[in-house]
Amino acid sequence: MAPVIALTGGIGSGKTSVADMLGNLGAAVVDTDEIAHQLTAAGQTGARVVAEEFGREFLDADGALDRTRMRDLVFSDPAAKQRLESLLHPLIRHEVKMRVENFAARPADAVPYIVIVVPLLVETGAYRDLAQRVLVVDCDEDRQIARVMRRSGLAPPQIKAIMANQASREERLRNADDVVRNDGDLEALRAAVEALHLKYLGLRGKRAGTQ
Ligand code: ATP
Repeated sequence: MAPVIALTGGIGSGKTSVADMLGNLGAAVVDTDEIAHQLTAAGQTGARVVAEEFGREFLDADGALDRTRMRDLVFSDPAAKQRLESLLHPLIRHEVKMRVENFAARPADAVPYIVIVVPLLVETGAYRDLAQRVLVVDCDEDRQIARVMRRSGLAPPQIKAIMANQASREERLRNADDVVRNDGDLEALRAAVEALHLKYLGLRGKRAGTQ
C-alpha cells in the first residue's frame, strides 16, 4: 500500500505550498480543509446538516455555509463550536478515508505516496491513525505573521491570537518524523520539497514508519 504522510504546520507556515509542490511531483494529495469547503458548499451534506442544527440563517443566499456568520458564532460560543465540529468532522473524515483508500488501491506508478493535509493534526490528533509519518512545515513566527498579513489582511494581534490557540512550534516539531523548513524563498522551499519527495518515493515497499 502507498505510504500515507500527514502534513501539518501552523497558520501561514506553507502547508498548501508544500502540498501543491508534492502534488506536482506526483503525490496524491487529500486536503482536509478543501474537503470541508466542498462538503459545506450549496446542496452538499455539510451545508444541509448545519442548516438543520443551527438554522437556515447560517447559509448564504446560494445555500452554502455562511463562514463569516458561523465563525462569529463559534468564536463566542464554545458549545456551538463543539456542536459544529461533531456534525462536520465525521463527514470530513469519511470523505478523507474514502479518498485515501481509493488512492491506495491504485498502482504505485500512478500513486507513489499519499499526503493528507491536516492543519490541526498536533492539536487534535485527528488523522494520525491514517498516516505512517508526520511532516511538519516549520518557519519562524515573524515570517508566519508576515505571510498571513499579506494574504489575508488580518492584523498582527489577530494573527497572534490564532497562533496562541494552535500548538507551539516546539510541540509540533516534537511530533514530526520529517520537517521542511520554509524560512527562505519559494525556490529554496522547492529544493527542500524535492528532497523530501525522493525520500518518500523510497518508502514504498519498506515499512514507512521505520525510516
Ligand atoms: P494556512 O494555514 O493559512 O492555510 P498555509 O500553511 O497553507 O496557510 P500557504 O498558503 O502555503 O500556507 O502560505 C501562506 C502564504 O505565504 C501564501 O500566500 C504563500 O504563497 C506564501 N508563501 C509560502 N511560502 C512562501 C515562501 N517560501 N516565500 C514566499 N511566500 C511564501
